[in-house]
Amino acid sequence: MLVSYGNRGIIELPTGERTDCKYRRSIGRPYCGDRVSVEMTKDNSAVLTGIQHRDNEFARANARLQKQVIAANLDQALVVIAPEPQPSTDLVERYLVAIHSLGIRPVIVLNKSELAAKQSLAADSPLSHLGDYRELGYPVLATSCKGDPGTDALWPILEDKVSILVGQSGVGKSSLINQLIPDLGLQTGELSRVTGKGIHTTTTTIMYSLPVEGRLIDSPGVWEYGLWQMEQAELGDGFIDFHPFDGHCKFNDCRHSSEPGCAIRDAVDQGLIMKWRYDSYRRLLEQNR
Ligand code: GDP
Ligand code: ZN
Repeated sequence: MLVSYGNRGIIELPTGERTDCKYRRSIGRPYCGDRVSVEMTKDNSAVLTGIQHRDNEFARANARLQKQVIAANLDQALVVIAPEPQPSTDLVERYLVAIHSLGIRPVIVLNKSELAAKQSLAADSPLSHLGDYRELGYPVLATSCKGDPGTDALWPILEDKVSILVGQSGVGKSSLINQLIPDLGLQTGELSRVTGKGIHTTTTTIMYSLPVEGRLIDSPGVWEYGLWQMEQAELGDGFIDFHPFDGHCKFNDCRHSSEPGCAIRDAVDQGLIMKWRYDSYRRLLEQNR
């Protein structure tokens, strides 16, 4: 499923051909990225007959902070940050936790990196923590759409994968898409031809083909509300540096805040968990109450 609207969408057939696809109420609404089965009608259009099991569903919050699924079956999410607009303190942690809960790989991309050197950073800025993220095992890449180092470092990451770009508006997601998909206009033109209407690339979630094997999902529009409200368990689980101490707290349901005998706090005191990560966890926990 390359594009999905309310009652119809565009699919890619095994031959690579793209075609319009009508939905049936009984089957439900597929998402961008869904693997579907269809029946072809005489006029050579497709009717949805099934949606295959989803490996995962990627959601973001809508204006009412409700969870809104925008795509399915992703391999990874690229969290794009930039020196300008500056990310808020816990933004990256929120994304990392949410992406972890989906079981997909997060990749941190510092775009506009040519501006980074000129900046003085606050100690609690996510940009000061890029080395720490690497140490935690997250891939961290620097890109620029306006100069060195360019965007080539992304190719090995994107190859053979289905990826989505996430991040606040203004960090350069559309600029990256334009760099990575040189035939973007051709691809949207083809989609428009298939539907017989124009495709609104500023509001529609679209799965594009990359010049290498692999796909990139563009979901323009509102990222400002961030992700959905997370459960506490999701939150603890998403801090992968806490994992070695799982089950070591005195209480099974320890929230790692002020409970006695908390193994996570001990680990922070012993320098085994980075203090700033723990502080971020505590702030997210507070916001979740
Ligand atoms: P989006 O809202 O995340 O899709 O961000 P855009 O791609 O629309 O980019 C926002 C602004 O940042 C635009 O004015 C871009 O020209 C600019 N921009 C994008 N990438 C870079 C970059 O690598 N360096 C600099 N200096 N500006 C960039
Ligand atoms: Zn604890």
